[in-house]
Amino acid sequence: MARRNKIYEGKAKIIYEGPESGTIVQYFKDDATAFNAQKKDVIEGKGVLNNRLCEYFMVGLNQIGVPTHFIKRLNMREQLCKSCEIVPLEVIVRNYAAGTMSKRLGLEEGTQLPRPIVEYCYKDDSLGDPLVSEEHIAAFGWASQQDMDDILSLALRVNDFLSGVMYGVGIKLIDFKIEIGRIYDGDYQRLIVADEISPDSCRLWDMETGQKLDKDVFRRDLGNLADAYTEVATRLGVMPKNSTPITKPTLIN
Ligand code: 5GP
Repeated sequence: MARRNKIYEGKAKIIYEGPESGTIVQYFKDDATAFNAQKKDVIEGKGVLNNRLCEYFMVGLNQIGVPTHFIKRLNMREQLCKSCEIVPLEVIVRNYAAGTMSKRLGLEEGTQLPRPIVEYCYKDDSLGDPLVSEEHIAAFGWASQQDMDDILSLALRVNDFLSGVMYGVGIKLIDFKIEIGRIYDGDYQRLIVADEISPDSCRLWDMETGQKLDKDVFRRDLGNLADAYTEVATRLGVMPKNSTPITKPTLIN
């Protein structure tokens, strides 16, 4: 069997060259990391759950006309995506204060914000992905003003979609992070939602109890991460209600 070309290995995913030019394959690992990889573990089944959940969100976004890099899920851990150039920014949308915003501004976690707030971090692990302003982004040429208008609009559309989907299953979308890709079409470029959307990159709280159903369960040692993600997947109908929790996935599809 021919060996695939690995393009990049990150903390939670591996990117391979796709079968056709202009495509890549995203492989979801079981590895969980936090605090810039200072905390690490392997959570069996996490990659399978994130692959499924990411498919669910990306398909929904594509269907409502928010362009994403997602083409199709290939198997339990892999999805076929359009290859794109990643804008070196983490785009964070917050509906309620939590995490670094709570620390930075002294806001109690869970405080509702007056409106969704979009923040940008420069993607650089060695610097800990520092928060940057639009001034930095323009001055260093990471994105143009037109790009920033498009990125803001994409981020808010993703927020409306995800908030609604989560609200429908009794979950509050506290915040999330997305990444943006550029694809070129002749002389034109288009910005699309890339990377992943999953409980690894969102904060999700049960509406009634406030129980955390996202990566904070791992970051803060609050219980079993795979159980939390399985709860999200089950509520969304991505996993059948009575299915056995994913421990050791053996199926290909
Ligand atoms: P915070 O800035 O409070 O740490 O994170 C805000 C939101 O963005 C959270 O939902 C968090 O999960 C997500 N986020 C921030 N940085 C990263 C990152 O490097 N990787 C992932 N997967 N999510 C991130």
